[in-house]
Amino acid sequence: MARTIGSVEELLLAWYRVNKRDLPWRRTRDPYAILVSEVMLQQTQVERVVPRYLAWLGRWPSADALAAAPLADVIHEWQGLGYNRRAVNLHRAARAVATTGWPEDLTELPGVGPYTGAAIRSFALGEPVLPVDTNVRRVQERTGHRFGPACGQALMDLGATVCVARVPRCSACPLARACPSRGRRYEPRRRQSRFEGSFRQRRAETLRLVLAEQRELKELDGEAVASLARDGLVLVDGAVVTAPS
Ligand code: SF4
Repeated sequence: MARTIGSVEELLLAWYRVNKRDLPWRRTRDPYAILVSEVMLQQTQVERVVPRYLAWLGRWPSADALAAAPLADVIHEWQGLGYNRRAVNLHRAARAVATTGWPEDLTELPGVGPYTGAAIRSFALGEPVLPVDTNVRRVQERTGHRFGPACGQALMDLGATVCVARVPRCSACPLARACPSRGRRYEPRRRQSRFEGSFRQRRAETLRLVLAEQRELKELDGEAVASLARDGLVLVDGAVVTAPS
């Protein structure tokens, strides 16, 4: 028997009430805290983000607090999360919010794209928008359903734990009876390129050296320094490289 979209959503939400992941950013509606969590989650796994998110909010509990911090401290705190430019953008966004408040169009903030903007509007401001990340998009595509705004967190959890990329766990899925993709397998996703020996590693190592202390340009990897400087992660003043203030 065909199910209505309403009943599919009811099945999903009933599953979510029992299987919901207890994540710290789900216990707040503070837009700044949601912004921090979403920026961290952009390219880092949930398990690694949780302790770093808690430490971050312990150190800088508000946009004002983060805006007042030296950029070098912010980059330092970010170490280990990867893709350090996110820290620079988060700091710039905090300074913008501290100066002029939250903009009507959240994508005006540095590092905030349509997904992150929608996540803040939904999870912090309670607006009726569905943030569509990789997990949500996957479930939508496989089921063929257009889910409503109330389903955001539930779709994220279903996509992260059941309707996973390669071998979905259809036998544990609340939507299985209504899903045309039930039982399918998928090609392996393209793996992220190796960090070891990569330019990313050279950048990370160079940044680590500069954060520890001011360095002579000639003792560093010049290509990595130029790339870090373009991203605002280091400052080059003649022959000297420093962390940004
Ligand atoms: S039945 Fe399988 S493919 Fe369909 S939504 Fe559930 S886990 Fe994904």
